[in-house]
Amino acid sequence: MSDGAGERPPGYPPAWEEDAVLKDGGTIRVRPILPADREALQEMVRGLSRESVYFRFFQVKRELTAAELDHFTRLDYDRRMAFVALLGSRIVGVGRYMVTVEDPAVAEVAFAVSDDQQNRGIGTLLLNRITAYARTRGIRAFRAHVLADNRGMMRVFRNAGFAMRRELDEGVYTVEFPTEESEATREAVDRYHRRSVTASLMPLFYPHSIAVIGASRDPGSIGGRLFTNLIAGDFAGPVYPVNPTTPVVRSVAAYRSVLDIPDSVDLAFVVVPARHVVSVAEECARKGVKGLVVITAGFGETGPAGRREEERLLRVVRDAGMRMIGPNCMGLVNTDPAVRLDGQFGPVRAPRGNVAISSQSGALGLSILANARRSSIGISSFVSVGNNVDVSGDDLLVYWEGDPATDVILLYLESFGSPRRFARAARRVATRKPIVAVKSGRTKAGARAASSHTGSLASLDVAVDALFRQAGVTRVDTLEGLFDVSALLANQPLPAGRRVAVVTNAGGPGILAVDALVSRGLEVPEFGPELQAELRSLLSPDAAVRNPVDMIASAGPDQYRAVLDRLLTADEVDTVIAIFIPASPRGVAETVAAIGDAAAQHHGEKTFLTVYMHPDGVAPATAGARAIVPTYPFPERAANALVAAVERAEWLARPRGEPVTFGDVDRERAGAVVAGALARRGGGGGWLEPAEVDGVLAAYGIRVPFSTVVHDEDAAVAAAASVGGPVVLKVVAPSAVHKSDVGGVALDLRDGGEVREAYRRVSAAVPDAEGVLVQEFVEGGHEVLIGTTEDPNFGPLVGFGLGGIFVELIGDVAFRIPPLTDVDVREMIGEVRSARLLEGYRGGPPGDVDAVAETLLRVSAMVEDLPEIAEMDLNPVLVGPPGAGVTVVDARIRVVPREPGLADVAADLVGSLGETPGTMPE
Ligand code: ADP
Ligand code: MG
Repeated sequence: MSDGAGERPPGYPPAWEEDAVLKDGGTIRVRPILPADREALQEMVRGLSRESVYFRFFQVKRELTAAELDHFTRLDYDRRMAFVALLGSRIVGVGRYMVTVEDPAVAEVAFAVSDDQQNRGIGTLLLNRITAYARTRGIRAFRAHVLADNRGMMRVFRNAGFAMRRELDEGVYTVEFPTEESEATREAVDRYHRRSVTASLMPLFYPHSIAVIGASRDPGSIGGRLFTNLIAGDFAGPVYPVNPTTPVVRSVAAYRSVLDIPDSVDLAFVVVPARHVVSVAEECARKGVKGLVVITAGFGETGPAGRREEERLLRVVRDAGMRMIGPNCMGLVNTDPAVRLDGQFGPVRAPRGNVAISSQSGALGLSILANARRSSIGISSFVSVGNNVDVSGDDLLVYWEGDPATDVILLYLESFGSPRRFARAARRVATRKPIVAVKSGRTKAGARAASSHTGSLASLDVAVDALFRQAGVTRVDTLEGLFDVSALLANQPLPAGRRVAVVTNAGGPGILAVDALVSRGLEVPEFGPELQAELRSLLSPDAAVRNPVDMIASAGPDQYRAVLDRLLTADEVDTVIAIFIPASPRGVAETVAAIGDAAAQHHGEKTFLTVYMHPDGVAPATAGARAIVPTYPFPERAANALVAAVERAEWLARPRGEPVTFGDVDRERAGAVVAGALARRGGGGGWLEPAEVDGVLAAYGIRVPFSTVVHDEDAAVAAAASVGGPVVLKVVAPSAVHKSDVGGVALDLRDGGEVREAYRRVSAAVPDAEGVLVQEFVEGGHEVLIGTTEDPNFGPLVGFGLGGIFVELIGDVAFRIPPLTDVDVREMIGEVRSARLLEGYRGGPPGDVDAVAETLLRVSAMVEDLPEIAEMDLNPVLVGPPGAGVTVVDARIRVVPREPGLADVAADLVGSLGETPGTMPE
């Protein structure tokens, strides 16, 4: 570590050490302050201008006293906290809080930023960081005293989106604001994040000059091909080959080291053997290079030693404020005519277009480029992210969101750096531009064994699906699908609805197309009489005109032109698919041209796809420079692409919903129960006891029946008597996970005799019985399951299904990633087919669906608030008739200890460059 931090005192939260991007694209290290920072802090204060000192301390001072230095650097990281911003070993910013004496939920905050570093966003970064930290410490509000002239600080507060109250008294503003997150603070964080990420990536996509370190004379080598591609691609600026062993590469004078290049260098491609990469990166740092593309492999993908080397490399990159793509990648392409950056070593130059591509697999990336032309898509930019250690998928999403040349974003993913950051970026970007993703690993094999129902139902793939669905990412299973969908989204407007017209010159493919469309939920409506009559007048008497329109084999260019002209303006359909199978070689080019003409003439009016069933593949007219109409070799592939487009249109039209907050939730009480349970276990995790479970659920406003644990027959009878009505007895035992399976449940017990008999039976059901639960019997109703489980990558998932033992058998369960919105929970309920029973399916009694939805939202709030909850199973939740609510009669909750604040950080904040769980705000 290069920040001279020294030893970490007790209470120091290492998870809050982070690298962050500033709004000008530079990077900075932020971490909690340490006693060892005394000197650096003193240096910073000495360097402050008189005005900055005055703004911070309200008096003119030159330096801090020894006592002040102690006071500012020795903290408990709880009631007194500070973060420092570091450039190398220099402190350039400090943000601190101190809990007030009057109210432990209110803290005073203060900030200072070195004069030469102001206006880079460091104040905002520190403010967001310390606010996030304060939230995890139960601090509800910040108070700051700001001199009226200190406009910079007031701007920082305002821009952060906090709901401020301020009072002016004798030239000093007292500003107070809640630390709570809101739409406005989230929006402010997003804005800052977008701006800083984009600025940091500009030197990679739009470099003024390039060095190729490891450029080789050997035209077959990677360094040789890359260099040749850059030159042959006519890069707009100079390309400098760097090679210590040869004076000339491809007729260009080479330099021994990047440091010898007389000009400045924005971007360096690194193609040297792995053992030299770190020292080359250090030279680049000294040279002032802003971006690295490390092609060299042999890092994290090779094992622990490689991973350590990769971390060293990343450290060099971060400390220098550079950004890096790779290592172990295929390069970077930007087809913008302003730069013409062909920084990859494959044989194919990507055609210019509006699709941006990121690929985690290098080899696949090259084949994607090679296939782009054939698939009628053009590329705006292409990034092979390789090991993904610095620039990752979510950074690229943010960059492409703002890139005017990009209309569609295509991702090949093998893993997520941070799924939460990805989800957050994707959710916003997808509302503006389609994101199409292939995520490998779609099999059931990933289903993990877990002791709860919810846990065993969720596989990793379920999490990926939930994440994509919630974020509006279009998921495809195959590379073919990736191209098929992208070609449609990149070239055609989204369908306005589900109605499709099919035009064909052969019956069979027409029927196949209709089947494919209808089986995927699209409609092929019969045309109205007027339209049919018009079509008939254009076609031979043998043609079918009801939809599909079968023009029969004799149809030529004129028929295609006339019919398409009519259908592309018809109100009765939203999409037109034209199928063409050349029956003889004659007139093929003319027909293809006629279809192309119709497409061009009506471009943008309706969604238009073509199916060209011919051994040559792509129709000649559309394979040209700028494809207007996507062409597919088979009707099924056109139908699949169209379904994806329809679903995207519907997703865009749907309300996103809002996470719901409940005024009656007692978060502190639930937190205390969980903390108590962990303490009882000496800090270890495990399943909560029945009373603890009830306590947590009740704190979140979820109804549980009266229940109590007893240890003998008499106590059971007494407890039953206090309930008043019929009761239920259940064995309490670590081994009895599914109690009824082992005879550990007795229902609807109505008198003392029944209770005694049941007590004996139930308590003997397992050898390790710890007691018997006496619970109020709840009458009738549907049984549903609500649960949470935790994915190692994705964090918590909330699941819903019909309850009882069948849920595992039929797997009819919906999962979402919290926080759930009101729309999410309605969708979850709608997705579960058997949940139709709740609506009084086939004359059965209806259930209180609203109460089920509300319970899902309350559970979502619970797992958001209490990261210690690793697994929860409410099974069953008994659903009463409409208006009667729901009752949880069986619940299990497993808790695990967490680093303080970690989950909050991971959930709340974005913008980190690091892959560590504690991420970064700004
Ligand atoms: P387990 O899931 O461990 O087998 P449960 O506590 O869920 O045990 O009980 C099994 C079944 O008994 C439930 O699915 C439900 O049908 C019924 N049941 C349990 N408790 C009650 C209750 N308090 N009122 C009514 N029915 C209950
Ligand atoms: Mg149960």
